[in-house]
Amino acid sequence: MDRTARESDVAGVVAAAEKLGLKAHPIPGAQRTAIGITGNKGAVGPAAFENLPGVLEVIRVSHPYKLVSREFHPEDTIVSIGGVPVGGTRLVVMAGPCAVESLEQTVTIAKAVKDLGAHLLRGGAYKPRTSPYSFQGLGEDGLRILAEARDATGLPVVTEVLDTATVDLVARYADCLQIGARNMQNFELLKLAGRSGKPVLLKRGMSATLEEFLLAAEYVLAEGNPNVVLCERGVRTFNDFTRNTLDLAVVPAVERLSHLPILVDPSHGTGRRDKVLPMSLASVAAGADGIAIEVHHRPAEALSDGPQALTPELFADLMAKVRPVAAAVGRML
Ligand code: PEP
Ligand code: MN
Repeated sequence: MDRTARESDVAGVVAAAEKLGLKAHPIPGAQRTAIGITGNKGAVGPAAFENLPGVLEVIRVSHPYKLVSREFHPEDTIVSIGGVPVGGTRLVVMAGPCAVESLEQTVTIAKAVKDLGAHLLRGGAYKPRTSPYSFQGLGEDGLRILAEARDATGLPVVTEVLDTATVDLVARYADCLQIGARNMQNFELLKLAGRSGKPVLLKRGMSATLEEFLLAAEYVLAEGNPNVVLCERGVRTFNDFTRNTLDLAVVPAVERLSHLPILVDPSHGTGRRDKVLPMSLASVAAGADGIAIEVHHRPAEALSDGPQALTPELFADLMAKVRPVAAAVGRML
């Protein structure tokens, strides 16, 4: 309360809390009175109190999310994607093309990354492109190709679902549904992905705060699906030397607040091939549970994100250099 608040102002706040079914606990101090509020099941907005007479400031103590929070669930969650554990001591590497372009392209890349030690195959059959004139993906044909690549390599498949209309279709082929940065707050999509029964890879929106990111994950968990893997992929800043600014500090921040595993995607996070290796090493050093890397055997001909794609040779180099960094932070590859 404000220093000049009167007893009747304190009583007014107490009454407002009680009207909402909450308990108010006034704590008189030398300078001012603080009022603690308990008994809320979910978040209580500051609006109920901040304009009452004598109120100086409304401070939220608990988080607006619950199921994703470490407070609620102290142990690390390990999500199984087609049998591959994400979030344990083993570092997970997901690799593959940005987009599925053909059977030959996808199987070639899938075999290459599998031979070099990747655990999961990525690739988009439905692509969220900035321009409507850019390649939009092969759709269901792309999903069939991913399933063939899984058969050929044994790698579980992670692929993006772009809209609510295709959740069931994508879930029929994929081992994990990816929700992209542009859809992080597509709440209907989050709910349907939650009900799909498949694990969800949730990418951080390009302007999302950590709280918004965790609340998006909360939507999936609230549908009874605990299998969410978070993914940092860079946020928009004034930087013009990378495509996005990879926010690696979010990794320890998530680890503190949530039990969910988090991967880092240095490919979209930087947009530049030469920056993918150093930022992969930094991601692992920062405690990420894994990395997501775009790989293409002919990057110059890629139908999307060629400039950030690693060749299989560069991916081999990355795997060799990630290994000792992983070991240094107590993880194996
Ligand atoms: C992707 O991973 O293919 C993708 C489109 O990423 P983002 O949603 O992070 O831009
Ligand atoms: Mn891409």
